[in-house]
Amino acid sequence: CGIVGVLGNHEAAPILVEALKRLEYRGYDSAGIATVNNGDLARRRAVGKLANLSDLLVHEPLAGKSGIGHTRWATHGAPTVGNAHPHRAGRVAVVHNGIIENFKDLRADLGRKGITFATETDTETVALLCESLIADGKAPVDAAYETVQQLDGAFALAFLFEGEEDLMIAARKGSPLAVGHGNGEMFVGSDAIALAPFTDEISYLEEGDFAVLTRNSLEIRDQRGAIANREKRKIVLEN
Ligand code: GLU
Repeated sequence: CGIVGVLGNHEAAPILVEALKRLEYRGYDSAGIATVNNGDLARRRAVGKLANLSDLLVHEPLAGKSGIGHTRWATHGAPTVGNAHPHRAGRVAVVHNGIIENFKDLRADLGRKGITFATETDTETVALLCESLIADGKAPVDAAYETVQQLDGAFALAFLFEGEEDLMIAARKGSPLAVGHGNGEMFVGSDAIALAPFTDEISYLEEGDFAVLTRNSLEIRDQRGAIANREKRKIVLEN
């Protein structure tokens, strides 16, 4: 129900948890984060309150300065650790808000290629589809773009990739998503409130936008595939 992401210069885990706390008001049943550290992609997930995820991170810390995080409001699959986001398939980790309406068709296509499923969620399909395109030889950005083009429904998505410390993909169709501009850092969040502690400069993605983020760049393609500019705004939150 909430998405956050960071390509930063500090440890990502505390930033992700702090940003997720600011999305708690939306409600959720489980939470998780993934980071890339020295190229390695890893994740931690917990059912229930964010405090459970924080406790887990005390015992099983997650290093790395690039990461994505999620609070889940289950729509497909019970609120279990296994169904919690981030979902992972090979080199790809994904967090998702919303519903992938055509996930059963996509699942059937992937199943015919011999790809097996570990969860009951619509979201896992996104990770598996993207990973299958990378396995076919596509670069991560192109694999993510092709994946998003195949999705029907309402969604906000963030992708992170093994071996890619300075790359995050954010895409939206029907669910809000904002990019936060830092000083040599880049953030994503479901809303400005999540990002307020880290930056006050935000660009809201528009319907159908596909954004490629690095620490120092943001490239957005609109729903027709044309390069788009989304105005930077100063966020002013009322206390
Ligand atoms: N449909 C996804 C799931 O059930 C995402 C739900 C959400 O928006 O948190 O896992």
